Amino acid sequence: MIPGVRVARPATIQDALRMRADLGLAGRPLAGGTDLLIELRRRPAPGLTLMDLSRLDDLRGVRAEDGTLWVGALTPHEDVARSALVRERATALASACGEVGSAQVRNRGTLGGNVANASPCADGVTALVALGAEAEVASVRGTRRLLVEDLVERPYRTGLAPDELILAFHVPVQGRGASAFVKLGRRDALAIARINAGCVVEVAEGRVVRCLLAVGSVMPRTQRVREAEDAVTGAPATNDTARQAGDVVARRMVEVSGVRWSTPYKEPAVRAVVARVLLRAMGIREGP
Ligand SMILES: Cc1cc2nc3c(=O)[nH]c(=O)nc-3n(C[C@H](O)[C@H](O)[C@H](O)COP(=O)(O)OP(=O)(O)OC[C@H]3O[C@@H](n4cnc5c(N)ncnc54)[C@H](O)[C@@H]3O)c2cc1C
Repeated sequence: MIPGVRVARPATIQDALRMRADLGLAGRPLAGGTDLLIELRRRPAPGLTLMDLSRLDDLRGVRAEDGTLWVGALTPHEDVARSALVRERATALASACGEVGSAQVRNRGTLGGNVANASPCADGVTALVALGAEAEVASVRGTRRLLVEDLVERPYRTGLAPDELILAFHVPVQGRGASAFVKLGRRDALAIARINAGCVVEVAEGRVVRCLLAVGSVMPRTQRVREAEDAVTGAPATNDTARQAGDVVARRMVEVSGVRWSTPYKEPAVRAVVARVLLRAMGIREGP
């Protein structure tokens, strides 16, 4: 496939974990290949072994589990986007996966690959962080669970050890709240996000009683913006509140990333994307 690169196909999760432990940095897991194969074409890595995970059927699919959704790491974006469970109970994740690339990319690219690749503009990551999802990560040493927000540490770097694989995601359901995802790209189709945002909002008697808000592509890593969440919680569910949250996120972006050539474009765009995602989750039409 790629000169100098070997491919191995573990048949079970245990085989895959053993192989990962044996190979260490000389092996890379291969899921859909939509990030990894492009990277290897750009930067060949002779002597590398690709661990093709395609036989691990147990890591594919969506099911309801104790107030959360279990989403296998090898589930392609298209399956996540079409899942009735995800659409109903974690709407932001279905929307995010439905906006990844093109139909071809969504059918090959997986949610686990999206997180493990850790691009600051990964759509699936933003939705998972907004929903407070945890990743289930395993090695021959055992299994651990950690927030996706903590797993993705910086651009293109996760906290995965060289012998670990992501097995699945545990996504809290939105419950009485609603969740939404909004992405702004340079064009409508096949666009990598310039800015994306996801949120969970619960409204009772006209006021916001719970808000989780994550933004991607505007800071070095996708993260929740607690200052904006606090500004919204307790406030009336209105256009003004959504706009105020947008102001808080735009301010935070400049504090964290500094003023760049793109700031005059990004500041108003961030405000608009954040306001839009909150209004969508609140079920309010965007005001003038
Ligand atoms: C044309 C095009 C358009 C795109 N558009 C978008 C877009 O709009 N939004 C977006 O977010 N992304 C986009 N992408 C990026 C890509 O499709 C996603 O990031 C995809 O989800 C990656 O998943 P994969 O299964 O293809 O991962 P792979 O390419 O197989 O792997 C990616 C990385 O994750 C590691 N990995 C994979 N699975 C695991 C696992 N279970 N455990 C540990 N490590 C693992 C691999 O070793 C590699 O480092 C686009 C890509 C292309 C080519």
